[in-house]
Order: sequence, then structure tokens, then C-alpha cells
Amino acid sequence: MECIFCDIIKREAPSEIVYEDEDIIAFLDINPINYGHLLVLTKLHFDNFLTVPKDLLHKLISKVQFLAGIVKRSTNADGFNTMSNNGTAAGQRIFHFHFHIIPRFENDFKFNLISKSYDDNHLKNISSKMKEFIEKYQGQFDG
Ligand code: 5GP
Ligand code: ZN
Repeated sequence: MECIFCDIIKREAPSEIVYEDEDIIAFLDINPINYGHLLVLTKLHFDNFLTVPKDLLHKLISKVQFLAGIVKRSTNADGFNTMSNNGTAAGQRIFHFHFHIIPRFENDFKFNLISKSYDDNHLKNISSKMKEFIEKYQGQFDG
């Protein structure tokens, strides 16, 4: 299986690594949305958010918090976005799960998102579907 992020981890592809420990690695995005845009990922390969084992995910999110502070300080950012894309529909291009940390500056740009609104029926319908699935899968997730 070819994976550019696995190659980076193995030092078989170049990158600017800024943090590394036993489980986690962080390097600069090659095409940053803002300078200092950092990618944070587990060294083990998992396709997406749903397939990362919980213990590793906890380590990952903890490092994302630490590194978000580092990104903010080192770029003098006013804020930052942490985000992950999951699935091609969500814009995922590299299928080795990663968080983006994107430093943000007042008035730099707007994510061009258009909000929808619900009618009451629709709102209740979606909510009850979610509650049904929560009931069904909660035990499996906690266990
Ligand atoms: P995704 O769209 O999968 O959430 O994000 C993939 C990110 O990886 C993109 O922001 C892209 O610029 C970055 N990227 C793709 N290939 C490379 C690479 O070879 N090196 C580095 N450092 N970043 C990469
Ligand atoms: Zn990989």
C-alpha cells in the first residue's frame, strides 16, 4: 500500500518534521493554507478518524492541543483551526488520518460555507435517528 505520510515517517520522503515521539509525528503541510499549517498524525497507518484505536486517538488529540499552542505562539496567530477531513466527500486526499492545525489571523479569509435551516419535522427526524444509533452502538463504543 502506498502512503506518502508513511514514507515521510520512514524518512523515505522529505518533509519538515517539527515534533515526533514514539506514537505521534507532526510536520509542516507542503501547501499551507497559512504559513505554519501543521499536520499531526499517528505513526501507525489508519485511514480515518473512525478507525484510530481510542488509546492512540487520545494521545493524538492531546498532542494536537499541545501543538496548537505551539503553532499559535510561533506564528503570532490570533487563532487557529483544528480540523480533519474524512472521506473524499469531505475533501480527504491522504488516507492516513491526520489533524490539520491552521494558524489564523484577523480578516485573513473566510471558509465559504453556506448554512442551511431546518423545519421542525426534519430536525426531530434527524435527532431521533441519531438517538436510535446511539442506543444501538453505545455499548460497543464504550466496551
Ligand atoms: P487532506 O486533504 O487529506 O485532509 O490533507 C492532506 C494534506 O496533506 C494537504 O493539506 C496537502 O497539502 C498535504 N500534503 C500532501 N502531500 C504532502 C507531502 O508530500 N508532504 C507534506 N508535508 N504535506 C503533504
Ligand atoms: Zn500511511
